[in-house]
Amino acid sequence: MEPRFEVLARDGAARLGRLRTPHGVIETPAFMPVGTRGAVKGVTPQELEAAGAQVMLANLYHLTLRPGIDTVEQLGGIHAFTGWRGPILTDSGGFQVFSLEGMRRIDEDGVTFRSHLDGATVRFTPAGVVSAQERLGVDIAMVLDECPPWPVDEGRARAAWERTLEWARRAVAARRRPEATALFGIVQGSSYRAVRERAAADLAGLPFDGFAIGGVSVGEPEAERRAVVEWTAPALPRERPRYLMGVGTPADLAHAVACGVDLFDCVLPARNGRHGLLYTRSGLLRIRNAAFRDDPGPIDPLCACPVCARVPRAMLHHLVRAGEITGAVYGTLHNLRYFLDFMADLRQAIASCRLETRLRSRSGTSADGNRTESPDSPSSGSAESGGPGGLRS
Ligand SMILES: [Zn+2]
Repeated sequence: MEPRFEVLARDGAARLGRLRTPHGVIETPAFMPVGTRGAVKGVTPQELEAAGAQVMLANLYHLTLRPGIDTVEQLGGIHAFTGWRGPILTDSGGFQVFSLEGMRRIDEDGVTFRSHLDGATVRFTPAGVVSAQERLGVDIAMVLDECPPWPVDEGRARAAWERTLEWARRAVAARRRPEATALFGIVQGSSYRAVRERAAADLAGLPFDGFAIGGVSVGEPEAERRAVVEWTAPALPRERPRYLMGVGTPADLAHAVACGVDLFDCVLPARNGRHGLLYTRSGLLRIRNAAFRDDPGPIDPLCACPVCARVPRAMLHHLVRAGEITGAVYGTLHNLRYFLDFMADLRQAIASCRLETRLRSRSGTSADGNRTESPDSPSSGSAESGGPGGLRS
């Protein structure tokens, strides 16, 4: 059998890779648009494909509560159900469950919580979430992990890691369809270097198809988030894909790519797009601003998205101010295309060993790191409507 993941080229610590799944190949580094409930808000699978998305992310926590795993399985699995034909990764929902302060009880074997929808009691176990993701038919499944809040003391971070490691072993043992569904382990350890490095070494000894860096974008300052990536990425096996969960701005993505991370997901482009905060090659636009009322130009003249091809800034300004759903759709389509093009650009730079030059030429572009303007910065930790969780799905 061909290897699941291949590194095709390196540029410093950054890697150009290829991840094979039953539903297609993912060229890495890759950004995964977030379709929490099986759809990226306001976007059809066809539009997602056309934007250049190679893989979609969905969330087991949300799909378990509604419509239920049985329903999706009976309808032919998650690809038939959602209409998205490419690879799908599901987050196990550990992050969402642990965000339910006061509504969940954790023990050695799993976590019991109340549904935020109807108060029903639900239980997640390490084996149960692997089985549920296999039944959904996802291409990449994530283990159940304990994501401690931020800040947390080192003792508690260590205890949470011990439990997560034991759960990771149980997840591996629970696999029934390893050929169809890849399984990724998740490194935790909060902002403690010793815990993170130990966690990476512990997980590297288990037969996972990939490794994720979790427990980031939970309210910690940017410098801490970046330090966690700098410690953890090089401690993970070189021959397996690395996935940074729930991060972040284009500047965060570029930094992590340079550290050797291959996969990303974040609700930021879609959420900001819905609120009229638009990424462009010359900076971030808050399209509601009066300056755009009569602006005939496209959002970004260098963007090839269907919105920039036809719709002037003035129209976006009008739709967003009027609260029209189409304004949210346009903003989402454009921002997703911006993030996907940004990753394609980084892949090209790695292929030609120009990543450092490419990143230096980008610094100073406000779209890369502007967080003061953003209504939903990675440090805000605000929840997506209707459920718990920050910038993770
Ligand atoms: Zn565009």
